[in-house]
Amino acid sequence: MTVEMGCFRSVRDLELRLLTATNELEKEREQRQELETRLQYLEQQLRKKEAEVAQLKSERSLEAAARKSCEVAGCDRGGHGRPIMREPLPDSCFLLAKRVPKSPSTARLVEQAVRSNELLKRMQPGQTVLLGDCMSETTRARGETIIAEGDSGESMYILMEGLLDVSKQGESLCTLQPGALFGELAILYDCTRTATVKALTDVRLLYLSRHAFRSVLMRESQLRRKLIIKFLKTAKTLKNLPDEQLSKMFDCMEESAFADGEAIVNEGEVGHIFYVILRGQVRVSQEVEGSPRLIRVLEPGDHFGELALIRNMRRTATCTAVGAVTCLTLHSEVFTETIPLEQIEFPTELDCFTQPAVANSVATVSRERLVASDTEEEEAAAAVCCLSHLQPVRYADTDEPVTLGVGAFGRVDMVCCGSTVFALKKVGKANVVQLHQEEHVRAERHILADARSPFIVRLYRVFRDNKFVYFLLEMCEGGELWSKLRDAGKFDETTAVFCCACVVEAFDYLHTRGIIYRDLKPENLMLDRYGYIKLGDFGFAKKLPRGEKTYSFCGTPEYLAPEVLRNEGHDFGVDLWGLGILAYELLTGSPPFTSLDPNRIYSKILEGNVMYPLYVGDSARSFVHRMCRPRPGQRLGNGKNGLASVRNHSWFRNVDWRKLQSCQIEAPTARLIRKGSPYVNFDRLPRDSQEPPDELSGWDIDLCT
Ligand code: ATP
Ligand code: MG
Repeated sequence: MTVEMGCFRSVRDLELRLLTATNELEKEREQRQELETRLQYLEQQLRKKEAEVAQLKSERSLEAAARKSCEVAGCDRGGHGRPIMREPLPDSCFLLAKRVPKSPSTARLVEQAVRSNELLKRMQPGQTVLLGDCMSETTRARGETIIAEGDSGESMYILMEGLLDVSKQGESLCTLQPGALFGELAILYDCTRTATVKALTDVRLLYLSRHAFRSVLMRESQLRRKLIIKFLKTAKTLKNLPDEQLSKMFDCMEESAFADGEAIVNEGEVGHIFYVILRGQVRVSQEVEGSPRLIRVLEPGDHFGELALIRNMRRTATCTAVGAVTCLTLHSEVFTETIPLEQIEFPTELDCFTQPAVANSVATVSRERLVASDTEEEEAAAAVCCLSHLQPVRYADTDEPVTLGVGAFGRVDMVCCGSTVFALKKVGKANVVQLHQEEHVRAERHILADARSPFIVRLYRVFRDNKFVYFLLEMCEGGELWSKLRDAGKFDETTAVFCCACVVEAFDYLHTRGIIYRDLKPENLMLDRYGYIKLGDFGFAKKLPRGEKTYSFCGTPEYLAPEVLRNEGHDFGVDLWGLGILAYELLTGSPPFTSLDPNRIYSKILEGNVMYPLYVGDSARSFVHRMCRPRPGQRLGNGKNGLASVRNHSWFRNVDWRKLQSCQIEAPTARLIRKGSPYVNFDRLPRDSQEPPDELSGWDIDLCT
C-alpha cells in the first residue's frame, strides 16, 4: 500500500512538474514573440523617423535655396532679413525738415505713444522730443486709407482723434484708438507695409516722413558732435587735441543722469571718470574745517573730473547735482585706450589710426605660392578676355548654366574663359536706376577693383551692355560661408576663430585705406579652394575720411549697429560691431538679436542684452562683449591701437597672425569643402526666366575696364 502510494505520488509529481515546465515554456515563447513584435515595431518606427529626418534635411536646403532665389523678387534672404539699401537723401528734404515745437498736450501724446512702442522707446530721450517736433498734423475723412498693405512705407503716424481699422488681406485685425502709433519702421528705411490702415471715423493724425526725420536727425547729431567737441576743447588737457581725436572721444562717452542733490563725485575719493554737463547745474564744494564751502556752480558745457583721465588722483572737491542733471561721462580706462597719453602733450603728431604694417618678409611657402600663381593665371586670362569670350559653365546632368548665387540686383554665374573659371556678377541696370543705386554700384566697382588682399575677392574686369553691368570676379570655389554654417548648424571654436581672423585681416586692409564695409554676414563671406575666407559683395562699402561720419541707413537687420538705428552718424565702428555679431553667429548658428519682426530685432539691438548658450567659452563671450559695446568708441579695435587690440584678444591667442597673413595656416574650414565638380559647394538655384528691360541712360559708361 505504502509502495503503491509512493509510486502514485512520484507519478503525480512528475506529471505536475511536466505541466509546470510546459507552461513555463509556453510563457517564454509568448514573451519572446511579444519582444520580437515590439522589436519589429521599434525598427519600423526608427526607419520612419530616419526617413523624416532625411526629408526635413532636404526640405531645409531646398527651402534655403528657394529663399535665396526669391530674393530678387523681394522675399527674405537665407537666415537673415533682406539687406536694407542705402537711400540717398534728396536735397529738398533739408528744406522740408523743420522743427516745430508742439503744444504740451500734443507733446505728452507723442511721448506716451513713443514710450509704449517697442522700437522707439529705446531711442535716446532727446530724440523723442525731436521726433515730436518734426511731426506735422493732417486729417483724413472716414473711409480713407492711410496706409495700404504692400505699398512702400514713407511715414509713421500717431492717431490724435478718431478710430482706425487695421486689416491684413481683407481681414480686420484690430481698431486703433487715439494715442496709437503705427507705421514706425518707415522712419528707419523704405519697408513694405504689412497691413492696411483705414479711417473708421474722421480722424486727426500726426505724421512724420522718413526723409524729414533723417535729415533733422543728421543735422542735430552733427551739431551735437560739434558742440561737444567745443566743450571738450575747454579742458586744458584736451584743448590741443585735433577734432578727429575729440570726435573719437565723444564716440566713447555715455550719458548718465543724476537726481537733484545726488553727489556725482566725492572729495577724497579716487576718481576715474571725466564729466561734461549736458543739462542742469552742478555745485562744486570743498570741505573747510568740517563744513562744505561752495566754490562755484557749473553750467551745461562745463566739465569736471578732468585729471582723473590721466592720473589716479583723489577728488579735490565734491560735485553735487542741482536739479536733474545729465552728463556725458568717460572712464579713464576707455580714455587711455582711445587717446595716446603722450600725444596730449604733442597733439600735432597724433595719428592713432596707423595700423602696424603687415609683415611682408615672412618666408613664402607652397600655399602662398599656389594662391599667388592662381591669381596670376586668372589675371592673365581676364586681361585678354571680353564679354563674348566668356562661356557659361553648365551642370553635367541638366546642361543648364551654373548659377552661384542671387543677389538684390541680379545673379552671379559661373563662367570660363579658356580653362580659367570666374564668377560673373550681373547687375541689372534698370533695377539699379529704379532704386537710385547708381552711386553704390560705382563705389563697389572702384573699391573692389583697387583692392589687393588675399582676404578680399578680386575683381578682374568690368563689362557692360544694355541690360547689365558685369563684374568678372575671382571664383571662390569653396562656396558661401553661410551654406557651410547652415549645414554644420554651428562651428567649433577653432573654425569660428579662423573665419573671424580672416575678416580682421580684410578689415585691416580696408580700414587702413579709409573704407568701411558695412555688410558683414556669413552670406558675404566666400571660401576659396583652400578654405580661406574672402570678403565679397561691396555694395555698401564706402570711402570715409577719418573723423567724419556717414548717415545712410544700410546693412542687414540682424547685423545693424545701434548707432545706425539711432541715425546718429556712423563710421568704422559698425564693422567692429558686425565682427562681434559674426563671431556669435558662427559659434551658435544664429545671430544674438533675431526675430521674424524687424521691430523686435531693432529693439533687441538697442537693448543690447546678449544671451550666451552654456557651451560658449569665456574668451569668446568676452570677445563678443567687447566688440558689441553700444558706444562705438568703446569697441575693441576702435581705440588708439586700432585692430591690433582685436588681434591681441585672448580669443585669438592661438592665431599666428604672420602665418595667416601669408596664407600659411592650414585652414580648419578646408574640411567643410566638398570634393567633386567645380560647383559642388553651391546650392542649386532655379534659372531666372525673366530678362530685365534695357537701360540706356548711360550712367555706367565709365565703369568698364
Ligand atoms: P546682396 O543681395 O547680398 O546685396 P549682391 O547682388 O550684391 O547680393 P553678391 O552678394 O555679391 O550679390 O553675390 C550673391 C551670391 O553669389 C553670393 O552670396 C555667393 O553665393 C555668390 N557669389 C558672389 N561672388 C562670388 C564669387 N566670387 N565666387 C563664387 N560665388 C560668388
Ligand atoms: Mg551679398
